[in-house]
Formats: sequence, structure tokens, C-alpha cells
Amino acid sequence: MQVTYSDLKNKIVLVTGATRGIGKEIVKNLASQGAHVVFNYREGKEAVAEELKKELMALGAANATGLMFDVSNGEQIKTAIDSFSKDFGPISGLVNNAGISKDTLILRLKESDIQEILDTNLKGAILVAQALSRGFLRAENVSIVNVSSVVGLMGNASQVAYAASKAGLLGFTKSMAKELASKNVRCNAICPGFIATDMTDALDEKVKEVYLSQIPLTRFGSANEVANLTSFLLSQASAYITGEIIKIDGGLYI
Ligand code: NAP
Repeated sequence: MQVTYSDLKNKIVLVTGATRGIGKEIVKNLASQGAHVVFNYREGKEAVAEELKKELMALGAANATGLMFDVSNGEQIKTAIDSFSKDFGPISGLVNNAGISKDTLILRLKESDIQEILDTNLKGAILVAQALSRGFLRAENVSIVNVSSVVGLMGNASQVAYAASKAGLLGFTKSMAKELASKNVRCNAICPGFIATDMTDALDEKVKEVYLSQIPLTRFGSANEVANLTSFLLSQASAYITGEIIKIDGGLYI
């Protein structure tokens, strides 16, 4: 099921980490709403980006533009966004979706892994929002959606750095909402529970069974369901919602 939001037509929305999983479903949803979809991919994924562009145009995107950058690299982000904005004007929607997890007990967690998780999941989101901020002041009805996780609210064994990065995103979300509300910029966070993607496919079957037994709705969520919530938050249907944290977890953390 997909709800259509008429104001998303021609809206310019950047989605980070759009090559797979939840990010890919978000850009597909936006394309079918007629948005100008700006999808982020990493160096080495040019062929994937080329295919994705075709797929998004076929779904009805007003336009589809790929931006190559690593979210942990401030220079790459700035170069890509400045060049895009010169050609197409300011971006008015942002989904900070790119993220990684490296699940392991704290005793085995390497310093380099802590750095990579925080740089990608937390610093990356702040850097991308920062690079877009000047443009946000010239754009209308700006909405930012940060993809956090229920783990950022409830914590999880073997995910100390990941959970810390996702909890950090919530502080960023609320501060950004307060700082830019007077400029009509909204900022919200979503906290998915267990959503079936490559990230969760990597988990041990036993771990999956344990999760499933804790979900009141007795199933994992789909990336499509997360995409629907994201489109709602990007649209003016949610115009009076900012600084909010919305769980989408089948009741996992009630
Ligand atoms: P996924 O299938 O592993 O996809 C992750 C995406 O992020 C890929 O497109 C990946 O690009 C991109 N990415 C990773 N590091 C990046 C970087 N440094 N710069 C740019 N792009 C980068 O993950 P997912 O399950 O769709 O998760 C998407 C988001 O939802 C993440 O923030 C995750 O933490 C969050 N989340 C997921 C779940 C879940 O159950 N799946 C639950 C809660 C929260 P490449 O293709 O180049 O690797």
C-alpha cells in the first residue's frame, strides 16, 4: 500500500545510502510520487547508480540525480552538493539513511570500528545536513528525516557503538528542530525495529528468532513500510510535526 502526497511532486529530496535496503525503497517511493530524487551512492557503485537512475525515472520521478560521496567525508559531500545546487537550486528534503552496524561484544570491539560506526551513522548525518543548511534557508517546506533505530532508544547487547550512534542522532534531531524551526525547517527521526534488509540478513538465525519472539505484531517490518513513513514526514501532511521521534517496530519497544 502506498499513500500519495501531492506536494512531493517536483520536491528535491536527497537520500543517503540509497543503493540498497531501506534507502532504495525510500527513493523508489519518492520517485513514484513524482519527486526529483537525489540519491547518494559511494565510489565504486557507478553501475548500480546508473541502473537506479533508470529505475527511478521509469517509476515516475520528475528527475533522478546520483551524487557520489561517502557520508563520512566532508569534502566529498560539499563538492557534490555545491555542484548539484548550482545546477538545480536548493534541496528541500533530506533523508539521512546511510548507516552501518558491526555487531560484537564490547571486549572485541576495535577502536577503528567504533570510529567508522560513529563517523558513518552520526557525523555523516550532521555533515550532510550542514552542507545543505544554507540552501535550506532559501528553500520552502524543508523536512529532514534521520533514520535512527529502536536500539538508540532501548540499547542492545553487542551493539554499543551502533546504539550510541543512533541515540546521538536523536539529540541531533531535536537540536536541529529547535535551531531551524523559525526558518520553517522541520527535523524528525524514525526508529525502525527489525526491518528485513541486507543489514538484518547478516544476523544469525537464532538472533532473528529471538527478535521475532519479542515483536507483538509477530513479523519483521518491510523497507516499504519505512518508506511510507518517511514520505509522510517529508510531505506537508506532517507540517506541524518537528523534533519528534517515531518508532516503526511492530511494537518491539513498547
Ligand atoms: P543496508 O541494507 O546495509 O544499506 C546501507 C546503505 O548505506 C547502503 O546503500 C550503503 O551503501 C550505504 N552506506 C553505508 N556506509 C556509507 C557511507 N559511508 N557513505 C554512503 N553510503 C553508505 O542497511 P539498511 O538495513 O537498509 O539500513 C538503512 C538505515 O536504517 C541504516 O541507517 C540503519 O542503521 C537503519 N536501520 C535499519 C534497520 C533494519 O532492521 N534493517 C533497523 C533500524 C535502523 P553501499 O551499497 O555502498 O554499502
